[in-house]
Formats: sequence, C-alpha cells, structure tokens
Amino acid sequence: MSSGDASSLRDNRSMAKKCACGSGAAYGECCGRLHRGEAQARTAEELMRSRFSAFAVEDEDYLLRSWHPATRPGHVGFDPAMRWTRLEIVRAEDGGPGDGKGVVEFRAHYAAGGEDGVLHEISRFVRHDGAWVYVRGKTL
Ligand SMILES: [Zn+2]
Repeated sequence: MSSGDASSLRDNRSMAKKCACGSGAAYGECCGRLHRGEAQARTAEELMRSRFSAFAVEDEDYLLRSWHPATRPGHVGFDPAMRWTRLEIVRAEDGGPGDGKGVVEFRAHYAAGGEDGVLHEISRFVRHDGAWVYVRGKTL
C-alpha cells in the first residue's frame, strides 16, 4: 500500500472498497451514503465513524457540514503524507437516537511517513437542527 498520490485518493473514494470506519461494509453502502447526503447519522457514534471515513477519503464538504456552525473552521486541511488507517471506538456516552448530545472517545490510527501513530480524542456532539454535529474534541 502506498499513500498520498492521486491514484490512492481515487481508490479511497471507491464505492466498492471496504469503508474506512471499520464496519466491514462497502464504502458506498456505509459512510458513503452519509457523505453523499442520502442518509443521516442516527447516533453520535455513527457520525463519528462517518467523519473518520470523511478524513480518510478527504471529503472536506462533509466534514464542514457535520461540524457545529459555532466551532466550524473555515476549511479543513489534509496532510498528504498522512493516511488514516483504522478507527477504534473506546466508549460512547449518550448520543443515541433519542438524545440531544453525546460523547465519543476514540483512537484514530494513521500512518505518516512510514511511521504509525494514533490520535486519542474525546469528542463532543450535539443535535443541531435535528442532525448530529461535531462540536469539539479534546486530545488525550
Ligand atoms: Zn463507514
């Protein structure tokens, strides 16, 4: 596996490839549906997974759409040397279909320049206009 060049980015977007979120389903049937706006995350954890795969396929538009307007940055930058490899959900608190807010702790694994790394974060989500959005995260 190589990373960073244009062809691997196109591969990441492939609808038939396994989704980066780790569900085991094809991207097109999993987070791809959320990224295309055909489905909405029912839980904070599902939104978290879809945002991880949005980083993996570099879908800036989805990342901004799923970010609370109060904390949303102007744009999302992607490091071409960095490839997101695996998401591990450590714990989820609230964030269910009937909740208004939720917390998801996760470990996002990546490879950069031949080194493996992990981002350990506790993210906060709220329901905004009926849809789950990311508010902020605290890295551990
Ligand atoms: Zn997925």
